[in-house]
Amino acid sequence: MRFELVQLPYATDALEPIISKQTIEFHHGKHLQGYVNNLNNLVAGTKFENADLEAIVKESNGAVFNNAGQILNHNLYFTQFAPPAGGHLPDKLAPAITAAFGSLDNFQKEFESAGAGLFGSGWVWLAADKDGNLSIVKEVNAGNPVTKGLKPLLGFDVWEHAYYLDYQNRRADHLKELWKIVNWKAVEARL
Ligand code: MN
Repeated sequence: MRFELVQLPYATDALEPIISKQTIEFHHGKHLQGYVNNLNNLVAGTKFENADLEAIVKESNGAVFNNAGQILNHNLYFTQFAPPAGGHLPDKLAPAITAAFGSLDNFQKEFESAGAGLFGSGWVWLAADKDGNLSIVKEVNAGNPVTKGLKPLLGFDVWEHAYYLDYQNRRADHLKELWKIVNWKAVEARL
């Protein structure tokens, strides 16, 4: 098949108790696999058949955009986590966060608030412009900052499928917990 399910860089139970094994199995193994299957069916025999994912997201709409966007989003999402370890921001990312948000604490508060305040399904992103300036971008449904010419560095999924089994309606609590499993080196590598 043209598009494949991204490999997790950790075991399905490695992010517990922040994200349960059951949530990872449904979110990665069922939801993301579904988007992959849909996109493979949708692009067969079209002008997008040999395009890369980011190009498809920038140029498509409707069902192709929705499924390609969700694959791009989840590929970023699932590869930005690591088992809870703590640690501080790497050298290149720290000054960019401070310049844009004053402090890591403040950035995290603004990011959580953006995610908690997003109505319905969508994503909250940390994105960089071409000069490396950072901003928080809210996107509904399958949106990704690449459509605004920005580079996504970190994304929190606020679709209910991302947290409902573990946190039910407590989206804000879920977002606050996610910081414990962010792999800042992986985030920095996207800058
Ligand atoms: Mn999701």
